[in-house]
Amino acid sequence: MPSQFNFFIFLMCGIVGYIGGRDAYPFLINGLKRLEYRGYDSAGIALLNNTLNVYKKAGKVSELEEFVADKDIHGTVGIGHTRWATHGEPNDRNAHPHISQDGTLAIIHNGIIENYASIKEALITKGHTFSSDTDTEVLIHFIEDIRDNAKVELEEAVRLALNEVVGAYAIAIISKNHPNLLIAARKGSPLVVGVGNDGAYFIASDATPIIEYTRNVIYLEDREIAVIQDQKLVIKNINDNKVKKNPYIEKLNLSIESIEKGGFENFMLKEIYEQPRSILDSMRGRINTKNGTFQMSGLREYEHKFINAKRIIIVACGTSWHAGLVAEYLFEDFARIPVEVEYASEFRYRNPVVGEDDIVIAISQSGETADTLAAIELAKSKGAMIFGICNVVGSSIPRMTHAGAYTHAGPEIGVASTKAFTAQVTVLTLIALHIAQLRGKIADKDLRRFFGELETIPSKVEKALLSNDLIIKIAEHFKDAQNFLYLGRGYCFPVALEGALKLKEISYIHAEGYPAAEMKHGPIALIDENMPVVVIATEGANYEKVVSNIQEVKARKGRIIAIVSEGDVKIKAMAEYVIEIPHTEDCMVPLLATIPLQLLSYHIAIMRGCNVDQPRNLAKSVTVE
Ligand code: GLU
Repeated sequence: MPSQFNFFIFLMCGIVGYIGGRDAYPFLINGLKRLEYRGYDSAGIALLNNTLNVYKKAGKVSELEEFVADKDIHGTVGIGHTRWATHGEPNDRNAHPHISQDGTLAIIHNGIIENYASIKEALITKGHTFSSDTDTEVLIHFIEDIRDNAKVELEEAVRLALNEVVGAYAIAIISKNHPNLLIAARKGSPLVVGVGNDGAYFIASDATPIIEYTRNVIYLEDREIAVIQDQKLVIKNINDNKVKKNPYIEKLNLSIESIEKGGFENFMLKEIYEQPRSILDSMRGRINTKNGTFQMSGLREYEHKFINAKRIIIVACGTSWHAGLVAEYLFEDFARIPVEVEYASEFRYRNPVVGEDDIVIAISQSGETADTLAAIELAKSKGAMIFGICNVVGSSIPRMTHAGAYTHAGPEIGVASTKAFTAQVTVLTLIALHIAQLRGKIADKDLRRFFGELETIPSKVEKALLSNDLIIKIAEHFKDAQNFLYLGRGYCFPVALEGALKLKEISYIHAEGYPAAEMKHGPIALIDENMPVVVIATEGANYEKVVSNIQEVKARKGRIIAIVSEGDVKIKAMAEYVIEIPHTEDCMVPLLATIPLQLLSYHIAIMRGCNVDQPRNLAKSVTVE
């Protein structure tokens, strides 16, 4: 029976809306294409033209465009959506817009309604039927129910419903019975309103679709609802219904290209900077520090398997394999379960010993990695329970595994993985700590401390990103190096591997990651005055040992770039450059130490004129073996 992971998180997707004097369709379809970077597993539009026409299709916006080629696409009010599924597979049925029970209302939604299940249950007892698995459809039925039962106007029904829902949303609603009305609202997900010169209004997840039509925009704030009716816009607060006086109209002064990437030069840098948010999203709704509780619905049914597991085998490729290595330390350290981390491509071809007492954790950003898929098949055939950790909802791995968890990092477009890695490590940390608790291997107060620390990680990542200017200087200094060595111990050994991989893949400089102490068994021979050596040397159990390793490199004239904990003085005196990161628990250092390494490889690659989003010879999702 195919499983789909469960989730509780806010995510991306693109939404657009138009109300004015012209046909909405051209704006909607072009706008969706602009927003496709936010998600592209299905697309749909709804247009008002006496009747409410809804067209939706799994796949890219271009497939929707083909689908509507012979349809009635007229209408001066419309909404559109390009989806990045969170609830329900990416298929036609789950594509947005969703409509109310009576067929008069259509909604598009970016985000997650966390309490949708209880609302859905209540609505079913009232006779509502649903044609999708989404949380979004529940929301529009809920609004309809309030409208009909409380006998209030649509606008008030939307407001009342939004006061009841938990989660994140940017929504837009149109109604067959109100041909001059478009309602939009947001909390947690972005929404921009464009103010046209001809009385038209545009809405979109970001300004890229709007910029061609008008440069006057209003960024809706959290918990605001915009009611656009008869060429007038009123913005109110969702809680108290107060009207916002003179909403601030900004003049857009950006190129389309730069907005699409959120003002960043390329997707990789944007994704590096998204990490405070994506790490938060990967935890959202999953931990409660106050009472030390944890929920991950994908795990619940299989907790007993983890409790009794004899062994965990992690299969993955590339950066995901490095996340697996961090997980090895985590599971052994906390849950006390033996772990093996395997390259999926090796595992699948070497007749491995796997059995019913084993748990196989498969990690893949895309959920489509061919070797990982084959490794899952093999382990499954030998009776192991398979748990997947993927970023792309509805991809092949979630369908093949018994259970799993999504990382909710949002679409990762840059080929070199950045935010997907830190989200994987975050999710694996959560799981390891939870399993440790289930197995009675961690005291409640320690668990609470770790969960509490995890919650500080997004703001600490933000702080780590502040080292960017220093890293630019370091990159200038070393951009012409032929080789790099990355060293780390314990939790930071996988970080060294990941740092080296990042540099290799986007700057084409040869780099090696090594466990710091292993260096003297070979690679130390490489060290001379031209060799930059990046050492992850944060405080903690291995600190003094790493300090000795730094001395060994220095004695051979190696050039030390050290990642240290804030305020470190000892290594500062020894290294050519030190990059400080905030203090944290040993097991969470990978989440912080990775950040400067991503930035270092990024800046070196840019200085060498490389295309960081699409490095040569690579593909985002390796669907061939
Ligand atoms: N939760 C909604 C869904 O799964 C919207 C997801 C999104 O923001 O793309 O369809």
